[in-house]
Amino acid sequence: MPKTEKKNSRRTFLKTVGAIGAGSMFASMAPLAKASDTDGSKNTDPVTIPTRPFGKTGVNVSILALGGVLNMSDQLIFRQAFKMGVTYWDTADGYGWGKNEKAIGKYFAKFPEDRKQVFLVTKGATSDPEELTEKLNTSLQRMNTSYVDMYFIHYVKNVKDELTNGVRVWAEKAKAAGKIRFFGFSAHKNMENSLLEAAKLGWIDGIMMSYNYRLMVKDEMKRAVDACAKAGIGLTAMKTQAAFTANFYASIGSETDHALKMTERFLKKGFTAEQAKLKVVWENQKISSICSAMPNMTILQANAAAALNKETLSFRDKQLLYQYAGQTSSGYCAGCANICESAVDFRVPISDILRYSMYKNSYGDRDTARRLFKALPEDSKGNILKTDYSKAEAFCPQKIQIGKVMKEAYEALS
Ligand code: SF4
Repeated sequence: MPKTEKKNSRRTFLKTVGAIGAGSMFASMAPLAKASDTDGSKNTDPVTIPTRPFGKTGVNVSILALGGVLNMSDQLIFRQAFKMGVTYWDTADGYGWGKNEKAIGKYFAKFPEDRKQVFLVTKGATSDPEELTEKLNTSLQRMNTSYVDMYFIHYVKNVKDELTNGVRVWAEKAKAAGKIRFFGFSAHKNMENSLLEAAKLGWIDGIMMSYNYRLMVKDEMKRAVDACAKAGIGLTAMKTQAAFTANFYASIGSETDHALKMTERFLKKGFTAEQAKLKVVWENQKISSICSAMPNMTILQANAAAALNKETLSFRDKQLLYQYAGQTSSGYCAGCANICESAVDFRVPISDILRYSMYKNSYGDRDTARRLFKALPEDSKGNILKTDYSKAEAFCPQKIQIGKVMKEAYEALS
């Protein structure tokens, strides 16, 4: 085979492995075969995902959590996840317009005994106590359960404004009524500030936040995680793959020699780059769990294999990941919305729109991206095209071409 052809096949192979995950290709990484029996068959030696304490709650949760993208027809994935010990399940009232909660409800209707072993989390995007009650009751009904283990306020941007005394009282009442065991919030932007503020409150049990190999090395994030750990707040990492916000960034990630060298090195050690990105997060013991969308068995198996794999990342492995993060930073929005959104003349939720763009372009989830975009206030949507983003781009620590992504997002999602 000519040299260039050889190089191209190597690139294609590494790219393919990266895209599908290693679960099906590297069975030696973990003994998953025993967990792959379908419902009804005997599982004599089940694989079990490790657990970690969730803050000061006294509960241990699986270090891999099943994220909420599944529908009614995905019952086998719930079953398989449960059998493997992926017993932390995360959803929200809005996921799939309620379909994800209903799918969980269908599962619990069939396997009511499993409910006791699942750490069930749902969320509602409001700080209004009355709306919280309404949302929680709807979620409980959909999921065929009388309680959730954790209730999160979804998409918290500013702890001081949103986690009010009224919310604290609501959470206490919901706990007393036996409808929720623990309370907290999820944060996709300005995470570091939210974590630091939450650590001071004394009544937050858990937080789910964007956290990955790009963000975890930042001093501010380290301080925020330390503060929460000290305050006994359980932490769940999400967005651990740190995906790109727009399609035109895709090539900076996969085509460089550095990326290929990194992928090849990881594959020789028995895992993919995607699995390495999970493993580096798990190396921080202050992170209790990683919440991951696992829409099919291949990804579930690959993620479970990563959770079971005992090999630690070497200094060189991590160095390669962090270098890759540096080389590709301009494709990833770090959620530091206070920087760019205060640099434009009109009110535009830049980091939210970049995230929706990521859902569409990197996750292939156009429906969610459009639903979230449509729910933005009309004035914000109206401001998108008339805003000059040059100052925001100059301040952006990731050097994102904000104006270009915003225009693309507007055209694709409105
Ligand atoms: S666009 Fe840049 S400044 Fe704005 S949130 Fe994303 S990374 Fe931060």
